[in-house]
Amino acid sequence: DAKEVVGNDRKHVWHHLTQHKPFEENDPMVIVKGEGMRVWDAKGNEYLDAVSGAVWTVNVGYGRTEIADAVRDQLVTLNYFAQTAGNVPAAQFAEKLIEKMPGMSRVYYSNSGSEANEKAFKIVRQIAEKKYGGKKHKVLFRERDYHGTTITALSATGQYERKNQYGPFTPGFVEVPHCCEYRAQDDADMENYGVWAADQIEKVILAEGADTVGALCLEPITAGGGVIEPPQGYWDRVQEICKKYDILLHIDEVVCGLGRTGKWFGYQHYGVKPDMVTMAKGVASGYAAISCTVTTEEVFNMFKDPEDARMDYFRDISTFGGCTAGPAAALENMRIIEDENLMANTLDMGARMMSNLQALSEKHAVIGDVRGKGLFIGAELVSDRKSKDAMDEKMVGAVVADCMAQGVIIGATNRSIPGRNNTLCFSPALIATADDIDHITDAVDNALGRVFG
Ligand code: PMP
Repeated sequence: DAKEVVGNDRKHVWHHLTQHKPFEENDPMVIVKGEGMRVWDAKGNEYLDAVSGAVWTVNVGYGRTEIADAVRDQLVTLNYFAQTAGNVPAAQFAEKLIEKMPGMSRVYYSNSGSEANEKAFKIVRQIAEKKYGGKKHKVLFRERDYHGTTITALSATGQYERKNQYGPFTPGFVEVPHCCEYRAQDDADMENYGVWAADQIEKVILAEGADTVGALCLEPITAGGGVIEPPQGYWDRVQEICKKYDILLHIDEVVCGLGRTGKWFGYQHYGVKPDMVTMAKGVASGYAAISCTVTTEEVFNMFKDPEDARMDYFRDISTFGGCTAGPAAALENMRIIEDENLMANTLDMGARMMSNLQALSEKHAVIGDVRGKGLFIGAELVSDRKSKDAMDEKMVGAVVADCMAQGVIIGATNRSIPGRNNTLCFSPALIATADDIDHITDAVDNALGRVFG
């Protein structure tokens, strides 16, 4: 009974990122079914989902009975045992995953992107204690990047509005400047912006003292901070800097991982050789909660300590890291991406979406910049192309709402960075067809016409 479900939701469910206002006048949207690229709400409305479950997660689309079957079979065989021991799907998925990540070696399982990042931060701290007398413990993060919702993951997040009202934060997390070329800093060298932006990281390292900095944590392409691909030259210089000062490079692939950008991982577009990689959302496309902190064998071996057997291991546990549903779903998710050639589709459909949006920018002056990779694209809206003044957040919201009224769910950066909550976000499932892509961009065309026309 739709009325009852919506009524119970309204009465008892505390929604993420929303609370009182939206539900005083309108019923909450309760999603009851998904199939392929589409979802249906409790009132029977159908939507084309251009953001894979609102937050770039359902990479292989909804209604995959093969994943459900694999999870069911695994659950009736063995649902759980703590990861202090092994289990079959965890071992199998680790092997498959490492096959896709040359240079990487070990997989640590947990349940969310935030948790995967926390593990990486703890790895840095414990290595600092073991090898550097506790000194080399700081983690650098970049302005506009997001690394999660827990207090420490927020401490490592460069989005002021997400952090607002949650301080004091964990010490030892230090921000470096962003690298968004469209919003380049006033004193930037625009001939060589990528190298210049990376050099700003070195300045922070020197100011902090290189012997205090243990790791640099970066999104390969900034997601919720505005879909920002680092400019040419950035990654090579970043890697040089990390090597020079013996700093671990931690890449947060929570959004880009598992095919979203047309390669298994975002960093693989740029020849990056990370020391740690974290991933979550697309690992099992939301069919089960799973995240992974993946490291090199070298990082794994830094825990060896023949002199102190009580401290010669990563002293961390995650209860639900021992759930078998996650790796069982992840194995099937990976098989689908391979068997259905979804990364090739992602590149084709991503190119189509990019060119559709670029065509729209000829028509709608409010589109200031279109950027992204694969099926991970942002369109930044401005009130004036020349001054690049950001479009008001309310107007950006009106575009999203208009698309929703047309039955197309798109996203937008929201309440993350003051004055920068103006990017429309698109991350359809990797199974999107040309018709789906055109349907999405037609809806955006209509919405822009209506809101700004
Ligand atoms: N890292 C990035 C880049 C993210 O976008 C997110 C979530 N949006 C997280 C980490 C945190 O993941 P979770 O919500 O699963 O804790």
